[in-house]
Amino acid sequence: MTPVGRFAPSPTGRMHLGNVYCALLSYLSVKSQGGKWILRIEDLDPDRSRPEFSNLIEDDLHWLGLYWDEGGTKGGPRGPYFQQRRTDIYAQVYQLLQSDIYPCFCSRADLLAASAPHAADGRAIYAGTCRDLSPQRVAQLQQCRKPAFRLKLNETDICFTDGHYGVQSARLPQDCGDFVVRRADGVFAYNLAVVADDHLMEVSQVVRGVDLLPVTPEQIYLYRRLGWKEPEYFHIPLLVDASGRRLCKRNKDLELGALRSAGIPPQRVLGDLGYWAGLLPERKPASLQDLLERFDWSMVPTGNVVVG
Ligand code: GLU
Repeated sequence: MTPVGRFAPSPTGRMHLGNVYCALLSYLSVKSQGGKWILRIEDLDPDRSRPEFSNLIEDDLHWLGLYWDEGGTKGGPRGPYFQQRRTDIYAQVYQLLQSDIYPCFCSRADLLAASAPHAADGRAIYAGTCRDLSPQRVAQLQQCRKPAFRLKLNETDICFTDGHYGVQSARLPQDCGDFVVRRADGVFAYNLAVVADDHLMEVSQVVRGVDLLPVTPEQIYLYRRLGWKEPEYFHIPLLVDASGRRLCKRNKDLELGALRSAGIPPQRVLGDLGYWAGLLPERKPASLQDLLERFDWSMVPTGNVVVG
């Protein structure tokens, strides 16, 4: 079967080299196998997403020659490809989970105070405070606060093999606790949206930053709970600056706007990214075709990649 991959950026700023590293590796992985590449704009959070950034994402990908087969403003058969236009789809998936969903009235402070020891990545593990509230108590609490909605997890071990980081396992619910599927402001949670989207867009291969490895068992739980087949996952290392800090949208000097206005050609950006992906022996300009010919997951590093 032809693999289907995707790049799923959040339009919360101009892309930096770390975002483009992810775009490039997801592109190379699927295109080196003759597959399709989808662009999905993850503007799920209305407070942080801006249309001008999704336009710039498309423009920067074009500048690099990373053309997608479906998605973004190009559209396609499995759209819409902007999460804000997919709310009805998320509502339907949410309905499928309804029997395991309960309202949670905890504030952020309550969550921190009541949480079990933090997960390895620093996330608080939900202690289950609102799991068994009586209907009367729910009605009472609803007078003063809008609840978020959590999914009650069954005792389950999730094991999977990441295509790049190998065998992974998590004990749910101890490792994360019941997670939020809908926020108190009504916005569907990332885990629910990303699983619904990847499933309905028939994505068979997910390539993304290793910072999302810890939430992958939660997403696999959702796939299995919904009776869907999960995609293959390939997590990739993070790009960090000389001080070891992960590149973020505040690193203005390594964002595409700055690189493009400094007159740096796309081949140089591709060459640098290809070098950091272990595909080129030295840092020199390269074409997308060069990288496609050399692409091999076993060359890609697993530790943080220092750039600068
Ligand atoms: N939208 C997420 C981000 O930009 C990526 C989500 C994913 O690849 O699953 O960090």
